[in-house]
Amino acid sequence: MDPVISGVHAGDPAKLVMADCFPRLHQFEREYGSVLNGLRRAPKLARKVVGFPRGMQQLADAMAAPIGEANLRLRSVATQIRRDAKGWNIAWRAADGTEDGASAKHLIVTAPHWHWGALPFDETVTRLLRDWENAQVPAVTVVARGYAVTDIPHPLDGFGYLTPGVERREVLGCLFPTSVLPARAPEGHALLCCFIGGARRPDLAALPDEALRKVVDAELSTTLGIQAAPRKEWIQRWERAIPQYDAGQRRREEALTQAEAAHPGLHFHGAFRGGISLMHVIRSGDALGRTLARG
Ligand SMILES: Cc1cc2nc3c(=O)[nH]c(=O)nc-3n(C[C@H](O)[C@H](O)[C@H](O)COP(=O)(O)OP(=O)(O)OC[C@H]3O[C@@H](n4cnc5c(N)ncnc54)[C@H](O)[C@@H]3O)c2cc1C
Repeated sequence: MDPVISGVHAGDPAKLVMADCFPRLHQFEREYGSVLNGLRRAPKLARKVVGFPRGMQQLADAMAAPIGEANLRLRSVATQIRRDAKGWNIAWRAADGTEDGASAKHLIVTAPHWHWGALPFDETVTRLLRDWENAQVPAVTVVARGYAVTDIPHPLDGFGYLTPGVERREVLGCLFPTSVLPARAPEGHALLCCFIGGARRPDLAALPDEALRKVVDAELSTTLGIQAAPRKEWIQRWERAIPQYDAGQRRREEALTQAEAAHPGLHFHGAFRGGISLMHVIRSGDALGRTLARG
């Protein structure tokens, strides 16, 4: 499990809780005696790699379309959040400095937990969120490179690879997005994404660009035999990447449940609870929306 935890969760396998990070594998262990037995014997789930042809913005655009531009307030800062007998009253300041506000029966907070301190809740809410202040979210830097296929000696016949901690490599793993989503690169080219940093080596995520290039050159030369220079390169730094479901996660999730119970109409939704994958966030968000719409 080591490479999966450090690759998928960018975490330290010694600190994360299996049941919270991989509930299905944990269930295999309980029901079938071992993860391997479970993988062999449990009914297979239909799984599919999902990607958006125009990138993640396509998802945001699809969600925004039915709401309508006139009903969206973007790049605005909440200046007050209060609850009265009717519901939640929110005031905000728009980017051009104008002040406005609205009230609603339900308020769903989807900002990640490291932004909650900036939200103007009153003390009755902030006190219940205090446990989240020290929740760990390590940095990850992604070095994405486009190569001509002829410059890659490896067949890239897979989704990519994750590196076990015991090998002490400087890269958490490398994904081959074009092997599953060919439209991610022009014909005759391949995209490779190297993940660097995470809970065990956050210092590596902060390396300057030139040093990162050397790390990635050495990694791709060793594992895929690449000697040629990439045709394109993008370096994306996530100072806070993946929430860590460590020993404190259950306590923090309970605090959220308490905050929601004590403040009817208040909901927290995102990768900070229940599951970090994008599909989890989409599915559980859809379920929450449907429940609230039913009244
Ligand atoms: C490098 C990397 C690679 C990943 N790869 C995968 C993958 O291959 N597959 C997968 O399933 N998952 C992947 N994930 C995980 C997945 O992307 C996240 O778990 C998911 O996007 C989290 O969704 P979210 O809505 O909780 O948070 P986010 O997508 O971070 O959305 C939170 C939003 O809140 C906004 N916000 C912040 N503060 C405020 C504020 N004060 N007011 C208003 N808005 C605010 C932010 O701008 C942001 O738009 C990856 C994550 C990282 C970092």
